[in-house]
Amino acid sequence: MSSNPLYFTPTQSKELADIANRMVAKGKGLLAADESTGTIGKRFSAINLENTEENRRQYRQLLFTTDNEISNYISGVILFEETLYQKADDGTPFVTLLKKKGIIPGIKVDKGTVNLAGTNKETTTQGLDGLAERCKKYKADGADFAKWRCTLKIGEHEPSNLSLIENANVLARYASICQQNGLVPIVEPEILPDGDHDLERCQSITEKVLAAVYKALSDHHVYLEGTLLKPNMVTAGQSCTKKYTHEQNALATVTALRRSVPSAVPGVVFLSGGQSEEDASLNLNAINQVKLQRPWALSFSYGRALQQSVIKAWQGKVENLKAAQNELLKRAKANGMATLGQYRGGEKGAAGSESLFVANHTY
Ligand code: 13P
Repeated sequence: MSSNPLYFTPTQSKELADIANRMVAKGKGLLAADESTGTIGKRFSAINLENTEENRRQYRQLLFTTDNEISNYISGVILFEETLYQKADDGTPFVTLLKKKGIIPGIKVDKGTVNLAGTNKETTTQGLDGLAERCKKYKADGADFAKWRCTLKIGEHEPSNLSLIENANVLARYASICQQNGLVPIVEPEILPDGDHDLERCQSITEKVLAAVYKALSDHHVYLEGTLLKPNMVTAGQSCTKKYTHEQNALATVTALRRSVPSAVPGVVFLSGGQSEEDASLNLNAINQVKLQRPWALSFSYGRALQQSVIKAWQGKVENLKAAQNELLKRAKANGMATLGQYRGGEKGAAGSESLFVANHTY
């Protein structure tokens, strides 16, 4: 006999639900700026910029000092731990800067993926040790939500049952620890786009993965009203020869979600997963136009699809700061419109329709 899942006080559960709802407020989504030091280094190397702490600070400052209009479209930002403790040139902590704009700071708390021995390079995600203490500190230091990314892959025999169960369980354990410390967990089971599978296969695997995740969240007594889901959109594999329209992707995505995500979850914030900036906006727009009942907000939590044009325009040069910030505004607005099903397309940035796919992507 399991114990009562409603172990939070009404005040605690209300706080979690309020944060989650603010994160998916109408017309808004999240900026994922939580690239680890190694991953941001890869982005910087494309513009020949050295991966130093100061350059990382300058870049994040650029993002967070974008015109206040940004808060019409961005409700929250996911930070890497280093960034949570950095300050702007004038000494204002980034956390304060964001809060002044009405943007909620969040933090990536996982410590990356490791191989599951005996599988075909499937992974689990580590970072549970000491997580409660870290969450407590992050909450005290201004974060209100967290992110943990698990990755699953589609292959002839993958995802394996082990990968399904292990990743669902670790996500649920993480979510439980976050909630006990006042952080809204973003639950991210990313099915990687690598492979030549078709749309139908991605849909059926997505349904299986999400069903396993919600079973585990239920087993761990996670309070769903105080969580968000961050899934992949349902799309064909990167090397699938058959091409699908945005409308086909959208219908497959909404169908999969309807079959596996409880309506108590306030919102689903998709990752961009290597889609071009324009595709990520057009797919999200099509998702919000699907003529099926959708009980959750369907929004974005994009990393690459919000930042590629920004980095391209910036080039690490102070004279390009404004141009780079304008690229961020443009993408944020396009995606904000897409959450309302009102993005008409064509607002391409410096990176336009270029694919942002990275094989076996790590964060
Ligand atoms: P992309 O949008 O670049 O896929 O990444 C979002 C993210 O936060 C993955 O964890």
